[in-house]
Formats: sequence, C-alpha cells, structure tokens
Amino acid sequence: MDNTCLFCRIVAGEIPATVVHRTETTLAFRDIDPKAPTHVLVIPVEHYADVAVLAEANPSAAADLLAAAAAVAEAEGLTGDGFRVIFNTGRNGGQEVFHVHAHVVGGAPLGPMLA
Ligand code: C5P
Repeated sequence: MDNTCLFCRIVAGEIPATVVHRTETTLAFRDIDPKAPTHVLVIPVEHYADVAVLAEANPSAAADLLAAAAAVAEAEGLTGDGFRVIFNTGRNGGQEVFHVHAHVVGGAPLGPMLA
C-alpha cells in the first residue's frame, strides 16, 4: 500500500467509496463524478501506477482486472446495449490518479470515442 495514493486509501477503507464489486485481487466502486449513467472504477487492490506497468509487472492481476470489469458491466446491466472500458494512461492520456483503474461506463449511447 502507498499511503499517499488515494485509491490505496479507498482499498484500506480510509476514504469512503460506494463499492459495487469486490474480489480477492480487485475492488470496484462508483466514480464520484460520473460521466455517464453508469460509471464504475475497477482497480487492483495492489498498487500499480498505470495499465502498462500492471501488464508488465503482473499479467495475472491485469487479467483479473479485466474479468472484474466484465463482471461489473454484467452486474450493472450494461452487456445488452454495450459499454466502454477506458484506461486513461499518463499525462497525455488524461490520467489523474496514478493507481491503475478501468473506467466502466455505459447506460446511454456514448458517441465516438474521441468526441
Ligand atoms: O482516469 P483518471 O485518473 O482521470 O480518473 C480518475 C477518476 O477518479 C475520476 O473520474 C474521478 O472522478 C475519480 N475519483 C473518484 N473518487 C475519488 C477521487 C477521484 O471516483 N475519491
């Protein structure tokens, strides 16, 4: 755990979050500033800065993260009409919290990806 990391502190229960799904290796909670009717963040419980670091350091945890994102989409009722999974990565990618997280967004048409 990194005590300076917001999402590590959510995992530790030090910062409140609305948790919607949990496995041994992942945690999913609602984004506090949702950009779509459904907007859930899925994170590994272990700290990795971004998806590239995670994939390189721990492919099994990366697979767990994707499986959890799919499970969240299913549980949120998004699989029929579709949804989007986004990993903002690095400064140019718009990443603000440097603990890797998948945004699972849906519940309405989302439009072209770069619009
Ligand atoms: O991909 P990026 O790093 O920009 O996304 C961070 C996300 O974390 C934002 O969507 C923000 O609303 C969310 N957030 C949150 N709970 C917090 C702090 C940030 O859901 N306590």
